[in-house]
Amino acid sequence: MADTKIIDYEFSYNKAAHLNDALRHLQEKGTRILAGGTDLIVRIKTDVEKPTGIIDISDVEELQSFVIDGKVEIGAAVKLSSILKVPVIRERYMGLYEAIDSIGAVQIRNLATLAGNLCNASPGADSAPPLLTLEASVEVASLEGENVEKRVVPLREFFTGPGKTILKSDELVTKIIIPSIDSDSGSAFKKISRVKLDIAKISCAVYLVAEGQIMRDIRIAVGAASAKPKRAESLERELKGKKFEQGLLEEKANLINKDISPITDIRSTEEYRRNVAPVLVRDTIELAWKRAKGAE
Ligand SMILES: Cc1cc2nc3c(=O)[nH]c(=O)nc-3n(C[C@H](O)[C@H](O)[C@H](O)COP(=O)(O)OP(=O)(O)OC[C@H]3O[C@@H](n4cnc5c(N)ncnc54)[C@H](O)[C@@H]3O)c2cc1C
Repeated sequence: MADTKIIDYEFSYNKAAHLNDALRHLQEKGTRILAGGTDLIVRIKTDVEKPTGIIDISDVEELQSFVIDGKVEIGAAVKLSSILKVPVIRERYMGLYEAIDSIGAVQIRNLATLAGNLCNASPGADSAPPLLTLEASVEVASLEGENVEKRVVPLREFFTGPGKTILKSDELVTKIIIPSIDSDSGSAFKKISRVKLDIAKISCAVYLVAEGQIMRDIRIAVGAASAKPKRAESLERELKGKKFEQGLLEEKANLINKDISPITDIRSTEEYRRNVAPVLVRDTIELAWKRAKGAE
């Protein structure tokens, strides 16, 4: 198996203790960041990447923070399994919880990070759809001389294509920022994959705010169905402000196909993805609605 291949070339490896060290190493040409390594090491072993240096950020002090204060801020070195242990995530951010819980198996989640999942920029990255519906941003840092410069980028502007983001080679994501959510909101994530431990054939996340029987706000995002994870804005426009009714969902769900541009690849076909998308979206909306109404 290609995956068991020994890495047979020399590269430098450094473990940074502080953000400054990490950013300094990142200025060296050919250096890649390693957070959990669950994507990077596979890419190196399968010859997709051949970095000349690796800077390990897993122990960087400034990237370990987890702040919940209305908004949620998750440091770039926080492991997925640690996020799942935070009660507020399970209680209030169910869509995000379900997405993280679906990433690989416990061994992967004990190593992998949310920032790594986003920076790898797979169109099927499971954490991207719920984070897009939560209107999350990433904080990005780089070194300007001796000073650390930071900027905040909305996640909807972060992905530029399969495996591609707006990050420059000397930039590092320091944290993911999730704005506060409405108390009458509910969210859900669903994914279809060949076997449980696999990347999605297609996935969907929904964040919904209920006011009586009205969907006051609805945000829908789909993964593995376009060149990058994205919001389904046409369908959102058709549903926002409308009464929640099965008939309406049946009628409108097909519009999801206007928002996506699936391809045929090793995991699925364009036809399958187009056929299953309306059903997946409908089921995810129903679940988010139940949660917003406190029924789940
Ligand atoms: C067996 C297996 C099953 C998997 N199952 C799933 C799945 O079901 N769903 C899913 O979405 N993914 C899955 N993955 C992929 C992977 O586990 C996730 O994408 C994971 O979240 C990556 O995080 P990491 O910390 O390991 O990233 P790493 O491998 O360390 O890094 C990934 C990429 O992001 C860059 N990077 C990392 N951190 C930063 C940062 N802070 N700033 C800038 N760049 C950064 C790295 O340089 C690299 O290019 C699976 C992988 C394996 C091996």
